Amino acid sequence: MHELSLMASVMDIANEELARHGARRLTLLRVRHGALDQVQPDAMRMAFEAMTAGTPHEGAILELVEEPLRLSCCLCGHEFAPDGRDALYAPCPACGETVPFRVIGGEGIFLDHLEAE
Ligand SMILES: [Zn+2]
Repeated sequence: MHELSLMASVMDIANEELARHGARRLTLLRVRHGALDQVQPDAMRMAFEAMTAGTPHEGAILELVEEPLRLSCCLCGHEFAPDGRDALYAPCPACGETVPFRVIGGEGIFLDHLEAE
């Protein structure tokens, strides 16, 4: 259940932002999560509800946006968005070589946007 610790670090950043802007109550939180991180949206929601219950942020909206995986071939530089993570170990669709790919999108958890009052 790594969603709890992910959500905790997102909330840490959110609380810092709130403090900086003198806001007290979070109304909306948008989190982008990379396809590679395999975050369970339901678990993220549960973690968010558990963490905001009984706080001024209770009832805030959590938006989860999955960022698709994007890879770049280390050999020919071809950039593409595969259907799944299996593409990491498949030959490059452009040059046909089995080479390491660079992950250029779809990795990591980011606090994208927040609204507060
Ligand atoms: Zn290639």
